[in-house]
Amino acid sequence: MTADDETGPPPAPARLRVAVVGAGPAGIYTAEALTRQQDVPVAVDLVDRLPTPFGLVRHGIAPDHPKMRAIRDTLHRALDHPAVRFVGNVEIGRDISCRDLHAAVDAVVYTYGAALDRQLGVPGEELPGSLAATELVAWYTGHPDADRARVEAALARARSVVVVGVGNVALDVARVLARTPAELEPTDMPQHVLDTLAAAPVEAVTVLGRRGPAQATFTTQELRELGELAGADVLVDPADLDLDPATEERVAADRVASRNLAVLRDWAGHGPRPGRATVTLRFFSRPVRLLGEDRVTGVEVERTLVDADGRAAGTGETTVLPADLVVRSVGYRGGELPELPLDPHRGTVPNELGRVLRGGEPAPGEYVAGWIKRGPTGVVGTNKHDARETVATLLADVAAGVVRPGGSADAGPDGDLVGALRARGADPVLLEDWRAIDAAETALGATRGRARTTLHEWETLLAAVKAAAARVR
Ligand code: NAP
Repeated sequence: MTADDETGPPPAPARLRVAVVGAGPAGIYTAEALTRQQDVPVAVDLVDRLPTPFGLVRHGIAPDHPKMRAIRDTLHRALDHPAVRFVGNVEIGRDISCRDLHAAVDAVVYTYGAALDRQLGVPGEELPGSLAATELVAWYTGHPDADRARVEAALARARSVVVVGVGNVALDVARVLARTPAELEPTDMPQHVLDTLAAAPVEAVTVLGRRGPAQATFTTQELRELGELAGADVLVDPADLDLDPATEERVAADRVASRNLAVLRDWAGHGPRPGRATVTLRFFSRPVRLLGEDRVTGVEVERTLVDADGRAAGTGETTVLPADLVVRSVGYRGGELPELPLDPHRGTVPNELGRVLRGGEPAPGEYVAGWIKRGPTGVVGTNKHDARETVATLLADVAAGVVRPGGSADAGPDGDLVGALRARGADPVLLEDWRAIDAAETALGATRGRARTTLHEWETLLAAVKAAAARVR
């Protein structure tokens, strides 16, 4: 008998148990970065409020962008990793507090994004017929919390639409509203969304930039796409593209801005063709009030100049644009999670390289990644680098002994977060349950010759899980 036989093999090192809150791109990239490192064995619970993963890839990227949405296949690989467990249908603050979550695992990474809208802060903004882009996007992507009645009432009269903001979300909204039913037919939009958009009387969409074309935040590929719409023409006033020499010089040094200007100049001066809708890009224009008695009828717009600091400055010259629907697309902001600090101005959780700061001091075992860490900027892939930075910070804390694998005290009856959640009355949706939803969406899509149709109600999403579970029994 050897010494090894007497003492047995050395115990396996304790696994670092991490809860990641939010199964969007930032959360999934965080899980991936954790499973790809070799320093510490890990077990990752990827918790989401929805019973479905992918966050803004599912409920943000426009459904008429199937190639972009295909990134979910790549993200799915991280979900399939044996050290990662999807735990959907669990809301932090409702089903379990931040404190109890932290007590059940060794570390928590918050990646819950920036789901709230920003306001314009102008009179009339609350009128019916005035929507936030977040509301419209949630509705057309089939988010189960979308306010169908509100959005559909606004769309039923939408002949003239004004979209405020010149970012990529504004272009998504303008494009989706200007698309023909045939263009939207193959998407995974729920049937009621396709029907409502087909019935909406949209003739003219005006996109307003409060600064000039050189300061627009949309990207060239998204801009170019407006020129390829089957049923709408893009209009741009050539005078808006007449830039001063200093701005021209700055544009020349900026690859995206110079490409954008080239696309806009190509369109400038084109007139609308008969029988087609229009998408007008109008710069140096900021809304000062939404007009209407009991619903929006127009927008009062002030002409602006861009001042020496690059800010929009009013000229006092105003015009009225008729509008039955106004969509403000002026950025997202992060919301507060009970017990987690939030910088109300930035809409982000105060942090240092992803380490949460409480009262300016690092909070051991608490981290952030994605939009709630850095603000609502960048494309899906930006979150990969961001998540890696946060995971490097977490691993540095493990190496420094600040976070101890296996150090959590209260892991629930079976030593497990899912057990702890069930003990609290929550009904977590796991990966196989998500697969049942996925299969139900694919089957529903097939009934109309589509690859998928999004299930848009809590009841139908959870019924798909229950039906699959009943079939297994
Ligand atoms: P964004 O790029 O920050 O655009 C916000 C727009 O709103 C800007 O034009 C901004 O103008 C304007 N704005 C802000 N406050 C305003 C006010 N009070 N009045 C008038 N205009 C105002 O944000 P986003 O479009 O919501 O996009 C968020 C992120 O998601 C971005 O990084 C975007 O690229 C990304 N995204 C990417 C895609 C894609 O790749 N296809 C699609 C959707 C979203 P100022 O610049 O003057 O502040």
